[in-house]
Amino acid sequence: MKNKSIRFRITVWFGVVLVLLVGLTFLTIRLAGSVVLRSTVRDYLFGVVEANADNIWYVKSMEEDSEEEAVHFIYVKFEDGYIKIDEDFMNTVNDVNSAVYTQTGEMLYGENPLALETDRIPFAETRLWKLSHNNMDYNIYDRKLNLEEEKTVWVRGIVSEEDNIAKLGQITSVSLFFLPFLVIAAIASGYFLSGKMLAPLRELEKTAESISGRNDLKQRIETNDSGDEITRLANVFNEMIERLDRAFETERRFTSDASHELRTPMAVIRAETEYILEKDRTNEEYREGFDVIKRQEARMSSLIEDMLDYTRMDQANRQYEMAETDLSALVLEISEQMMRIAEKGISLTWEIVPDLFVVGNAMLLSRLIQNLISNAYRYGKENGHILVTLEEDIQDGAHVAVLRVRDDGIGMKEEDLSKIFDRFYRSDASRTTRGTGLGLAMVKRIVELHEAEIRVDSIFGEGSVFTVFFKKA
Ligand code: ADP
Repeated sequence: MKNKSIRFRITVWFGVVLVLLVGLTFLTIRLAGSVVLRSTVRDYLFGVVEANADNIWYVKSMEEDSEEEAVHFIYVKFEDGYIKIDEDFMNTVNDVNSAVYTQTGEMLYGENPLALETDRIPFAETRLWKLSHNNMDYNIYDRKLNLEEEKTVWVRGIVSEEDNIAKLGQITSVSLFFLPFLVIAAIASGYFLSGKMLAPLRELEKTAESISGRNDLKQRIETNDSGDEITRLANVFNEMIERLDRAFETERRFTSDASHELRTPMAVIRAETEYILEKDRTNEEYREGFDVIKRQEARMSSLIEDMLDYTRMDQANRQYEMAETDLSALVLEISEQMMRIAEKGISLTWEIVPDLFVVGNAMLLSRLIQNLISNAYRYGKENGHILVTLEEDIQDGAHVAVLRVRDDGIGMKEEDLSKIFDRFYRSDASRTTRGTGLGLAMVKRIVELHEAEIRVDSIFGEGSVFTVFFKKA
């Protein structure tokens, strides 16, 4: 069964279970049938014998009855009178044979197919017993009748059990005869039904094969809205392909963006070296040339470092440990550290509400805060000021921790605001400052990982405010 198709397995299971069920049903019917039949046979026997017992009298002479009455009776000579038997006496009814006997076992009237076998067996009062003869089981019921004038006769009823059981046997064998046909029909319908049920699965397999064969992640499996298991599976499959497609697309774009970014400093280095090597240069010229190369090398190094950081963080399946984190303490710690940068005479102050907790990853949150503050320094004006605030607010009925990094630097133009979170994007105004354009892309990714929100407000030439809204823990 190991390497067999699901269709084959379903069919086999279906067939086996059906045969077992049908077999069990037959057995139950057969057993219950014979039990019921046996008790019915005995009930008949009692009923017939008792009814017959009510139809027997003793009369001294036949003259006691008028002629009209006498036609309805049978008179059998018995001792010094007659046994008078109503014509309603049932000799043979429902396979039960009844006969009337004297005390000594002499048959007076009636039917007894086992006369020879039973005449040696003495009567016993009101008892039911069994007799086997010629492989047949008989139920026998003896009933003692005390008639007038202390006359005693016996009514013996005999019924064959086997006759009826044999009928049941016939029914069973007819049923057994049909069983193989039934099994074949069951297996065929199982095969057909499983084929029908598994058809969408084959469709799924075909599409998956074609996707992997042609390496075409744009293909999707056609689904309907039936909502059954296979449709759900197809939907999950489609979603998976969609995600893969997006991941590959992102990677492709990243690689092309990254090589594009690296090409610029490389081109500068090449041009500069060519310029230096063109002819003999003065010491001053060499120095200038190497300075340019050094600056470009530094730019490439920081680009590569940022790119590594970014890709490491952006790995789709990377799981970050999220825990309840004291955001207040984290913001305070980083603010204190970064205050010391004091670049361009810029001062940094903070207003932090204590004990604001969020669910997050401390390492990522630190990086987010650092990136925002270092941008505020980088794009700040001489002797400017950075204000970091952390406060609690209520948004749409939910408590949020709001982090703001405000600067009075160069600000951004309206058209830049929607692009600054894209990888490698740098506004024209910031081209002169060092940077890779990856810092805010990283910030955005961290915000997403924390299911937070980020907003930027800026006035060109006046300054910018970056605001992050975290769900409170
Ligand atoms: P980088 O700073 O390395 O260029 P970022 O992704 O951190 O890259 O920022 C992208 C761009 O957004 C920057 O080049 C700059 O144009 C703009 N920007 C970011 N922060 C500020 C800020 N505080 N003030 C003005 N412009 C900013």
